[in-house]
Amino acid sequence: MSRRKAAAARARRRGPAPSPAEQVEKRDGTWWVRFITGSTSTKPYRCPGCDQTIPPATPHLVVWPTEPSSFLIADPLEERRHWHRACWDRRS
Ligand SMILES: [Zn+2]
Repeated sequence: MSRRKAAAARARRRGPAPSPAEQVEKRDGTWWVRFITGSTSTKPYRCPGCDQTIPPATPHLVVWPTEPSSFLIADPLEERRHWHRACWDRRS
């Protein structure tokens, strides 16, 4: 294998950028959903689905609307919420 091919193979194994967000359609709109492994989360979050705490370092989802719910909100990321994966999947 040429040196260049070996480098390309290494790049493929590294895979895509970490945790890209994906768009998900729900009854009340379109949301960005990003899975996070929890390795970077250092504080607990409250899941809006079950009203239980997501402890630090727990893999979970970060969800935010593609469109802000109010013109007062400049950045939809301000509306992001942390969900258990199962709770988000149950949401219609
Ligand atoms: Zn939950």
